[in-house]
Amino acid sequence: MRLVLLGAPGAGKGTQAKKLIETYGIPQISTGDILRKAVADGTPLGKEAKSYMDKGELVPDSVVIGLVKERIAQDDCKKGYILDGFPRNTAQAEVLDKVLAEMGAPLDTALSVDVEKDVLMKRLTGRRTCRKCQQMYNIYFSLPKKEGVCDKCGGELFQRDDDKEETIKKRLDVYDAQTAPLMEYYKKKGIVKSVMGLGDINEIFSKVCAALGKK
Ligand code: AMP
Repeated sequence: MRLVLLGAPGAGKGTQAKKLIETYGIPQISTGDILRKAVADGTPLGKEAKSYMDKGELVPDSVVIGLVKERIAQDDCKKGYILDGFPRNTAQAEVLDKVLAEMGAPLDTALSVDVEKDVLMKRLTGRRTCRKCQQMYNIYFSLPKKEGVCDKCGGELFQRDDDKEETIKKRLDVYDAQTAPLMEYYKKKGIVKSVMGLGDINEIFSKVCAALGKK
């Protein structure tokens, strides 16, 4: 199954993707994760990407398209994959379609996870991430047992630069202007399925599986 996850930052795409990996046995390709790793490793690509990410802007198409092309050509993507955070605008979607058409392996589904804006703000501004194992918490919805400390590995929790309030506003504006139009793009292709991304993670996942036709 070749799947694109649509939805605003904070809609829970990454969380659902992690669960889909287990169910379908296909990898998640998160351009946000790939870019954050490049930033943490201090690679030239990471250095270029960081300035855009810290401002909540999109990293140039040429950079992310190159990363995704390279990733989907790898062996573990033969059975399919879950694209999370890519494409982010129509230009990226068009290139992706072209590349996949050349490979003879078009997308099956664009799954949209829908969440209201005030909930998104709390999810994003409240998010804290473990420095060591990347486990995520939320100061409004899912506190760790001990403040500032990861339950899983004891690592320090911190707020990502791009989870600060000003950056989040910008990320949501960028989403409305550039990424939301992808709904129409994929609707025209007849491959959109939607679920409400509110409530318990496992309940949302049941709806996701039902939408994808898997029990
Ligand atoms: P995410 O974790 O998907 O919200 O991504 C975090 C940041 O990485 C975004 O705010 C962008 O700066 C950058 N980014 C991730 N995916 C893309 C993409 N497909 N195109 C451009 N920039 C991206």
